[in-house]
Amino acid sequence: MTIDVKIGEAGFRPASRISSIGVSEILQIGARAAAMKREGRPVIILGAGEPDFETPDHIKQAAWDAMQRGDTKYTALDGTPALKEAIRTKFQRENHLSFDASEITVATGAKQILFNAMMATVGAGDEVIIPTPYWTSYSDIVQICEGKPILVPCDADSGFRLTAEKLEAAITPRTRWLLLNSPSNPSGAAYSAEDYRPLLDVLLRHPHVWIMVDDMYEHIVYDDFRFVTPLQLEPRLRERTLTINGVSKAYAMTGWRIGYAGGPKALIKAMAVVQSQATSCPSSISQAAAVAALNGPQDFLAERTESFRRRRDLVVSGLNAIDGLDCRTPEGAFYTFSGCGGILGRITPDGRRITTDREFCAYLLEEADVAVVPGSAFGLSPYFRISYASAEADLRVALERIAAACRRLG
Ligand code: PMP
Repeated sequence: MTIDVKIGEAGFRPASRISSIGVSEILQIGARAAAMKREGRPVIILGAGEPDFETPDHIKQAAWDAMQRGDTKYTALDGTPALKEAIRTKFQRENHLSFDASEITVATGAKQILFNAMMATVGAGDEVIIPTPYWTSYSDIVQICEGKPILVPCDADSGFRLTAEKLEAAITPRTRWLLLNSPSNPSGAAYSAEDYRPLLDVLLRHPHVWIMVDDMYEHIVYDDFRFVTPLQLEPRLRERTLTINGVSKAYAMTGWRIGYAGGPKALIKAMAVVQSQATSCPSSISQAAAVAALNGPQDFLAERTESFRRRRDLVVSGLNAIDGLDCRTPEGAFYTFSGCGGILGRITPDGRRITTDREFCAYLLEEADVAVVPGSAFGLSPYFRISYASAEADLRVALERIAAACRRLG
């Protein structure tokens, strides 16, 4: 859906760069579900992409201490020295990557990091390769920058992962970036070192392609999966890789809005130019909290991931028990991306044929009071995403309702 442009009395006319951008389908479904709740319907919303945990107390305390100290003013443009140092240490400790402070940038969420990077590098006609399904903002941000998203479908049969052949075929002289996201939102699929290797070999052969790596879900991986980031595997890509991360998902800090990245100095500088004219700096208080998150105890991460793993297993087995659905077990993040091809063509009790994943999700919302997001929102059909960062009891009820609604289809 595009923005409804009405040149009315106020004479409002959006800039062309945003008039073709879709209004987030996730937000639309969320708004509909919230309206149903207000009407008294017992809707369970499995749409939101945020952990249901609280920000740990020691992080909140650090924010309070910062306010008391008077750290309530503008900070250095792209991150306080203390936070950059904590990020430098984090990259070294967890990813074996060495960055200088001048190679690190901090912004108001990883989303702004992506935005700054694209604004700083992508112009009209520049191409950005996006393995699909993708996090919805990737293609929208590229379009805001007047670039061209090159969507490469990677379905469940390929583990939702890009292959070397597909990457090679997507690269053109206009390619500016390849975007990689592991574990992925929405599929939960992650790349092992073996999965990444053939892609890195392709990239070595195409020196004009830069690599934007979104490691937001680094800490949420299951079983014996070992997280790796491309630069760790291939230092020769250092001069053209931006490694993005943030505190939102790992530390349950979505509202604090701190994201960061390490990359080549010239790019980091150009991103700071964008930021200087957009926000001046991220929140001083949130930056102090992020220092505590990165430097403080990390043991709760494993406990929380274990809780997500239990919920993942519950949801995957619940979905696979339903005739017509087919759910791959994700390696990480807190999403399932289940196939629903077996449902298409079936008839609802009131005689409507379900022909798309969007119609299936609308049916689940209206008939089962469960809000989930269709694969079409992430560029790949027929699938639907469940965010299982919700209470186990709600997940059980939601699965029962989905199963019952599917049984009612003829
Ligand atoms: N990348 C991915 C893959 C995400 O899912 C999200 C949040 N939904 C972000 C980046 C942005 O995170 P934030 O701006 O909260 O740091």
